[in-house]
Order: sequence, then structure tokens, then C-alpha cells
Amino acid sequence: MDEDRKLDLALRPRELSEFVGQERTKKILGMSIKAARGRDEAMDHVLLSGPPGLGKTSLAHIIAREMVVNVRVTSGPALERQADLAGILTNLEKGDVLFIDEIHRLQKPVEERLYSAMEDFDFHMMVGEGMGAHTMKLSVNPFTLVGATTRSGLLSSPLRDRFGQHFHLDFYDHAELGEIVRRSADLLKMAIDDNGATEIASRSRGTPRIANRLLRRVRDFAQVNEAPVVTREIALAALDLLEIDTAGFDKMDRAILGAIIDKFDGGPVGVESLAAAVGEESDTIEEVYEPYLLQEGFLARTSRGRVATQRAYAHLGRVRRGTML
Ligand code: ADP
Repeated sequence: MDEDRKLDLALRPRELSEFVGQERTKKILGMSIKAARGRDEAMDHVLLSGPPGLGKTSLAHIIAREMVVNVRVTSGPALERQADLAGILTNLEKGDVLFIDEIHRLQKPVEERLYSAMEDFDFHMMVGEGMGAHTMKLSVNPFTLVGATTRSGLLSSPLRDRFGQHFHLDFYDHAELGEIVRRSADLLKMAIDDNGATEIASRSRGTPRIANRLLRRVRDFAQVNEAPVVTREIALAALDLLEIDTAGFDKMDRAILGAIIDKFDGGPVGVESLAAAVGEESDTIEEVYEPYLLQEGFLARTSRGRVATQRAYAHLGRVRRGTML
């Protein structure tokens, strides 16, 4: 995990021009950055949503870099008390970026303090208790809040409404992931041919972080097997060893689909029962695994729960009884 985090850092795009894909988001963000710089103002607050590993953190750092300001990084769960937030906000310099990851996990009282800070750059802090309790107003330099969430549906509307811009990041297509793999291989000074890069890209679940992680494992494999260049054959052999299948699914993806088919007769099944069946947190299933399975049509969501589609049956080599979806 630590090694992967280091790799994430080394491979993180530093500028919008290095950030692959998400063309609409880049275009609008580029415009907002330029306009805010032209006016010498903090940029409007930005909400970034989408599954993990699609580039939300990278974009927050890019915004700060292109605005030529500092970035302060924290997360919803880390801001336990309003004093934690006060400490961070009052230390921001004019125009700085405050990045709050997992912003849907903010405690309600902390979230409420954030409203006036976002709107008027005032922070109202409750001090004292009982009869002596009063609010103290602290002023905050104009700043840009960049909030990231994997679950934008869980954000309260008062919070959501205070973001001037909302971008939803989509999964990347194979061509974009291929570009990311080639760029990362270059940075890692690793030789890979186009077929090798394409093979890794097509098994990365539409996710740059996974593409980079697989690339690293393939690099290890190539090194140990003394292969000077990563070709399709080398990539395939390494991915097979990692138990990443042709759809890019790992063991947990297959366990989820397999459980719905074998234990719940194809579904519908609620996420809690599914989580218990595969031994994973229901949040992780919803945030990490499900979005890609849904987008690729292996899973469908109905009002009564998750259902395995014909594609899931075919992928796992199972025969479906009864009606077809
Ligand atoms: P998130 O915050 O959405 O979980 P990150 O910004 O941490 O995602 O991205 C994970 C890693 O994936 C980054 O360190 C970077 O190496 C890579 N990455 C993400 N998006 C892109 C992109 N659009 N272009 C190139 N690399 C990317």
C-alpha cells in the first residue's frame, strides 16, 4: 500500500496538459483558472465526484499549481471538531486551495461551520458552554475549497449548493488508459511496446490508479524474468499471475458476481447481504466495486437490489436458469 502511494505520487500529473482524458472537465477548469487569475481572485469552489482512482486528488493539486497558490490537504473524517477546521481555515493565505477528500464524511456540526466560510469567508466558532456559550467570528482569507467524494448522492444540498462548479469524473476508455500507461512507463524508465500497454490498459477497470498499479506489477515480473521490453506476452503472463481476468476483474469482482449468481440465484440481493456473503464492507462494495460492474453491464440495480446480468453469467461461464435479463 505504501509503495503504491509512493508510486501514485511519482506518477501524478502536475499540470492540466499532462492530465489525460476528462476533456470537458479540463476545458472548463482551465477556463475558470485563467479567469480567476486574470481577476486576481480565488477560484470558485469545486466539487469533484466519481469512483476512487480517477484523478480527483490529482486535479486538486493541479488547480493549486496552476493558480500558483498553496494547497492544504485534509479529509472529512480527519476534521473531527470545529476547532480542527478553524485551525486550517485561519492559516490559509489569500487564494489558497483547501482540498477536503471524502467530503461526504464530514461531521454535521463541522459541515455547518463550513457554510459561512465558503460563502462569506467568515468562520463562526462556538466557544464556552451553557450560559457562557457564545459565537466568535474569525475571518478567513478568500480561498478555494476543492471537495472530493465517491458518493455525491450522500452530500447534503446546502453543502452541494455552495460549490460553484461540480464535475463528475468518468471511467477512462482503453485509449486514454493506454496513454496513461505509456506516460507512466516513460517516467519509470521502463520499456513497453504498444501491445503491452494496450493489454494493461484494457484490464484496468477504467481506472488510472489501477493501470499504474498493474504496470508496476508487470515491471516486477519483467525484471525477474529478464525481459528487456514489456510485450503483450509478458503483460499477459504477469496479469494471469495476478489473477486479473480479461475484463480486468480481480478476485473480489468475481466473488461479488459469483455470490449473486450462486448464493442468491442471480438476485435481486441487498448490498448488506451481498457484503456478508463476500466478506467485504458494504461501503467498499458500493464505492469501489459496483460502479464499474454497473457501467460495464455485469450488474444491474433494481429497486429490490442487485441483479447479475446475462453478461455476468457468460463471463463466469455459468448457465442461467429461467428468464433472461
Ligand atoms: P482519486 O483522488 O480520484 O482517488 P488520484 O488523483 O489519487 O485519484 O489518482 C490516482 C493516480 O492515478 C494518480 O496518482 C495518477 O498517477 C493517476 N491518474 C489519475 N488520473 C489521471 C489522469 N487523468 N492522467 C494521468 N494519470 C492519472
